[in-house]
Amino acid sequence: METYHGKSIFNGIAIGKICKYEKEQQQVKRIRISDPEAEINRFDHAREEAGAQLQSLYDKALTQVGESGAMIFEIHRMMLDDDDYLDSVYHIIRSQQVNAEFAVASTGDNFSRLFASMDDEYMQGRAADVKDISDRLIRILMGQTDKHDIMEPVIIMAEDLAPSETVQMDKDNLLAFVTTLGSSNSHTAILARTMGIPALVGIPVRDEWNGKTAIVDGHSGTLIIEPDDALLAGMQAKKEEELRQKQLLAELKGKETITKSGKKINLYANIGNVSDVGAALANDAGGIGLFRSEFLYLEAQDYPTEEEQFQAYKKAVETMDGRPVIIRTLDVGGDKEIPYLHMVKEDNPFMGFRAVRYCLANPDQYKVQLRALLRASAFGDVKIMIPLVTCVEEVLAVKELVEQCKAELTEEGRKFNENIEVGIMVETPAASLLADRLAEVADFFSIGTNDLIGSTMCADRGNDTISNLYQVYYPAVLRSLKNIIESGVKAGIMVGMCGEAAADPLLEPLLISWGLEEFSMSAPSILRARKTISQWTKAECDELAEKALACNTAAEVKALLESAAR
Ligand code: PEP
Ligand code: MG
Repeated sequence: METYHGKSIFNGIAIGKICKYEKEQQQVKRIRISDPEAEINRFDHAREEAGAQLQSLYDKALTQVGESGAMIFEIHRMMLDDDDYLDSVYHIIRSQQVNAEFAVASTGDNFSRLFASMDDEYMQGRAADVKDISDRLIRILMGQTDKHDIMEPVIIMAEDLAPSETVQMDKDNLLAFVTTLGSSNSHTAILARTMGIPALVGIPVRDEWNGKTAIVDGHSGTLIIEPDDALLAGMQAKKEEELRQKQLLAELKGKETITKSGKKINLYANIGNVSDVGAALANDAGGIGLFRSEFLYLEAQDYPTEEEQFQAYKKAVETMDGRPVIIRTLDVGGDKEIPYLHMVKEDNPFMGFRAVRYCLANPDQYKVQLRALLRASAFGDVKIMIPLVTCVEEVLAVKELVEQCKAELTEEGRKFNENIEVGIMVETPAASLLADRLAEVADFFSIGTNDLIGSTMCADRGNDTISNLYQVYYPAVLRSLKNIIESGVKAGIMVGMCGEAAADPLLEPLLISWGLEEFSMSAPSILRARKTISQWTKAECDELAEKALACNTAAEVKALLESAAR
């Protein structure tokens, strides 16, 4: 038995035989030709055929993994028309008087080497895409077919996998991927996640493993070759339980989320970037309750331009196809450091110059984001959410900047939603105490329990020594949640929750009792929450909430909720 550790792309357990994935070796020869224009003609025909193949791959991926997963083939189609790529191929054919296969192979190598050498992880991921599209063109020029059949269920082991190779594999026979290369940002990783297939990267390829039984444990990121019988049986049982839970939950797909007494609840997904939208849809999210826009900034080398931000928000909104998308404006500071913003080190960063405080102190920079959000609102139901609000002044100041941006965009003749909603995260004790007043100036609330628990209990979420105090079950936190929700409901605005506690099955009945209408969580928790919510009537939730509020200690609350759990 041998164990290897890699980086997990998707959770879940797979048990089966390893199959080393052999790429078709393309031996491209350099052949002198006498008629470069005829060769260019041949290349252009191959491009047309590649375009048609990518269209059918797009259609296939669309049904398997949805719009965002299929998008990679659209990107490949765009690469086929890229001027730099085409100029290079034409130039090599004409200047060296060589065959199209050779010109494509040289261009593909040069471009993918260039991408691979870039610092940016996203651009490094594009190296595989250029290689993929070049290989496709070469196959067509050489008259080869485009097929990789897997005949039995296997764990695919490969140095690297191209997105088109991944999507063409027969999903029923694909138990897991383990690859040496590829980042969690690569499109193959994104596809694996959207297809829900356990996958690890950073695992070596060993010829001698081919055909051996192995376990891929996506929870711990390990590959175990030739596991002993006891481990195999244990993992088999874990996998069966996982499957059973998944099947039970899958039955809830496409259904409404309603309490046992008939109240409709919105279940939304939290996302970090545009590529997570696919998983949100695959798990039946009714909208995006929190788009943490800071990831756009964290992934960039410099402050993302208005156009870059607009494209990202627009893509998310279009993919969500009319469903609400709540985008939180930059929540920098605290534990989220963005080097190019050159923020000064602070003794107490969680209570420091962060989130809306930083943004309001840099209004010109903030307006770049607000303009991008407004422009995206012309393409769907975008809502703006302000993080770390502590007072009415902050909300008014942001709304004033939004109005300035609207005026500028109108002058420029750009479209946006005139009635865009501007809501707030309620995640500070100040905002909780002031919830009734804030409800007069905010269009909606979303409770950020991650910060709220910490600041209410004066307990840093990252400090293990005091982690016993960082719990949502403390009476102080419960009172705060009740107050926020009831204040919002009374004022007639939508109240949601996007902190981790929204996905806590023990807490959900209390939140329903107080009137929470929207629960936003990581996509894989959505169907489970739908089930929990369907098991409670409002009257049962009220009874439990009353008992919970009567408790004096977190331990009593937790024990009560556990004894009532369904
Ligand atoms: C929260 O504080 O609950 C929240 C959702 O925001 P973050 O975890 O990004 O601070
Ligand atoms: Mg927060």
